[in-house]
Amino acid sequence: MYLFEKLLEYIFLPSCGICKIIGQGYLCRKCGKDIEKYKINLIENTNIYDNKKIKNVKIQKFYIFKYEEIIRNKIIEYKFNDKPYLYRMFSKIIIEDKKSCEFLKSYDIIIPVPVHKTRKKSRGYNQSELIAKELAKRLNLKFYSDVLIKINNNKVQSKLNKKERMKNVKNVYKIINEQRINNKNIIILDDIYTTGATINECIKELIKADVNKIGVLILAKD
Ligand SMILES: [Zn+2]
Repeated sequence: MYLFEKLLEYIFLPSCGICKIIGQGYLCRKCGKDIEKYKINLIENTNIYDNKKIKNVKIQKFYIFKYEEIIRNKIIEYKFNDKPYLYRMFSKIIIEDKKSCEFLKSYDIIIPVPVHKTRKKSRGYNQSELIAKELAKRLNLKFYSDVLIKINNNKVQSKLNKKERMKNVKNVYKIINEQRINNKNIIILDDIYTTGATINECIKELIKADVNKIGVLILAKD
C-alpha cells in the first residue's frame, strides 16, 4: 500500500488530506482554517517521581488539538484505515503551528511512542513514527526509534476503561541503548491522550536514562 501511495504521488500532485483538493499541498488553506477551532495549544507541567534518583522529574506536555469531530475522524482514519500518507498532513499542521514548533525546537531528540513489531507488521506502519521522522527532518532534531521499544503486544487502549488501561500498559515498554539519550532533551510524540497511561509508562522507562529534560507532544487530547 505504501509503495502504491508513493507511486500516486509521482503521478499526481499532492492533495489536501481533508478535502482532497489538488494544488495546495497536503493541507489546503480552507481546511487549515477550519481546523483552527479545535486547537488548544495547551502546555501542562507535571512531575513524575523517580525512585532510583529519589527525585521528581519535570515533564512538559503540549497538546495541540481537542480530540473532536474532524480531528478525531482524521486520526482514526490515519491510524486504523491504512492511510499512512496522512502523516504528511499531520506533519504540515505541526510545522505550520508556531507554538508547536517552538516547543519542539527546545528538544534534541524526538522519540515516537512505539508499537509492538507484530502490530506494526499487521498495520504496516507506526503512525507516530511517521510523523516524528518527518518533524525531525524538517526541524533538525534527531529521530530515535531504537531507544524505546514495546515488548508486549497488548490490547488496543481505546476499548478499555481507565483502570484497565493502566493495567494494560504496565511494563509493556522498555528502554534500550539508554546511553544514547543521557544528558539530552527528549521529546516523545503521541497521537491521542486519554488517561495518560501510555505516555506515563513511556516516561517511566525513559527516565531510567540520565535525561536532561522530557517533553511530550500530543496531537489530540480526549
Ligand atoms: Zn482541504
